[in-house]
Amino acid sequence: MGLRLYNTQTRQTEEFTPPPRLRASDGLAPYEVKMYNCGPTVYNYAHIGNLRAYVFADILRRTLEMEGYSVKQIVNITDVGHLVSDNDEGEDKIEEGARREGKSTEEIIGLYSQAFYDDLKALNVLPATKYPRATQYIDEQKALIETLDKKGFLYTTEDGVYFDTTKFPRYADFAKLDIAGMQAGARVSMGEKKHPTDFAVWKFSPEDGNKREQEWDSPLRADRKGFPGWHIECSAIAMKELGETIDIHTGGVDHIPVHHTNEIAQSECATGKQFARYWMHSAHMLVDGQKMSKSLGNTYRLSDLAEKGIAPLTFRYWLLTAHYRTQVNFTWDALKGAQNAYERLRRRIFEIKKKGVTTNTHPFSFVGSVFDDLDTASDIASMWQDIQNNEYDSKTIIQEVEILDKFLGLKLLEYAPEEVVVTSELQKLLDERKTARDAKNFAASDRLRDEIRKLGYEVKDTPEGQRLEKTEKKSA
Ligand code: AMP
Ligand code: ZN
Repeated sequence: MGLRLYNTQTRQTEEFTPPPRLRASDGLAPYEVKMYNCGPTVYNYAHIGNLRAYVFADILRRTLEMEGYSVKQIVNITDVGHLVSDNDEGEDKIEEGARREGKSTEEIIGLYSQAFYDDLKALNVLPATKYPRATQYIDEQKALIETLDKKGFLYTTEDGVYFDTTKFPRYADFAKLDIAGMQAGARVSMGEKKHPTDFAVWKFSPEDGNKREQEWDSPLRADRKGFPGWHIECSAIAMKELGETIDIHTGGVDHIPVHHTNEIAQSECATGKQFARYWMHSAHMLVDGQKMSKSLGNTYRLSDLAEKGIAPLTFRYWLLTAHYRTQVNFTWDALKGAQNAYERLRRRIFEIKKKGVTTNTHPFSFVGSVFDDLDTASDIASMWQDIQNNEYDSKTIIQEVEILDKFLGLKLLEYAPEEVVVTSELQKLLDERKTARDAKNFAASDRLRDEIRKLGYEVKDTPEGQRLEKTEKKSA
């Protein structure tokens, strides 16, 4: 069937293939896919909406590998130049973070990039080939700016160096922007920008006494210090690490109208080549119908979930039960539901494995929907079906789970509940609780659940009755 991916560039699901000149299959080493995932701005902890973008990229990478490719995966760390306002205005988020916390920018960057790596590890996201920091590619960014300047795409104002978007006739195409409408509605303070869509490739440090910690000699203006704009880092890093035309570029949908549109403009104007062959975007996570975002103050972190007993892999399971291009709405109920399902799934798999091998008479029912634009949700649904369907023998099912888990990364076969020895004290509490529940005395039943918890056990109500689990085994 081959691997099919939805390409934002064409708004179509297309077959993924290596570039035409490398398509020969006669003895070439497996093609190495060059993939770039726009990384986090490390001025604060990542929220679980941000993390969705990296779980999505991880599924993509695992699927490419299962398809037989090797993958060079680059995730940049934005440690300079991302301003508070998307309009090239306001303070640099990193400098602001340092001021807010009374730390150096280097400390802020170290702290929050490490927290990001820790979150990825907890989510069983495979480590990327490299996590390059924007500040370590200043020379490459300046070189790109010089090239664009020589080709006549830039102009300089008092506060920075700007890309003139009218010089790139395809500027509006990628995001299907309504430029006329944007011009008409340009209430934004444009400063000295010539057009509302023009963007900074370099900003000069303000000369108002608020000295920046991170600044360098500016390109095009020797008398000013400054720092790169946000978009230029991704073009420079991607080209340096992966080449002028890369295979796949990803980000969240919010990147389409500004960040990726600008990356395409500056990269393609500098090289005259297509920047990325496939563009892929994951949908947002909402809270009460609004985008989860730090500015709205409606964010949750993995540690907030852990405090309520929701393990990182439960969150991963929840994400994978929706398609990556579908918005998901965060609620505690949804995550509790996922927790139940994920636990039941792993317990069932564990029990099937324990039964041992029986004759393998049935073919796989696993169809690999993941190859159809990463449809993990359908694969999880068909795995559930097979598990509940007694027709399949245990060996077939375990094989299916093994394959599927290479894509899903849910550690489905690692579950091993500890045998719980029910002491007479525990049994007494269980009996009392059953009596309370039978009498619909839920206050008493909840109180007994708490007492059991204090002894280190969680009581689950299953169709077969009450079941105990050691508390620390509850999380993955
Ligand atoms: P940032 O650290 O703000 O640069 O964002 C990191 C990644 O998270 C980007 O790929 C964004 O598109 C993505 N992102 C931001 N907010 C959300 C959200 N509410 N749901 C899903 N992804 C998001
Ligand atoms: Zn980027």
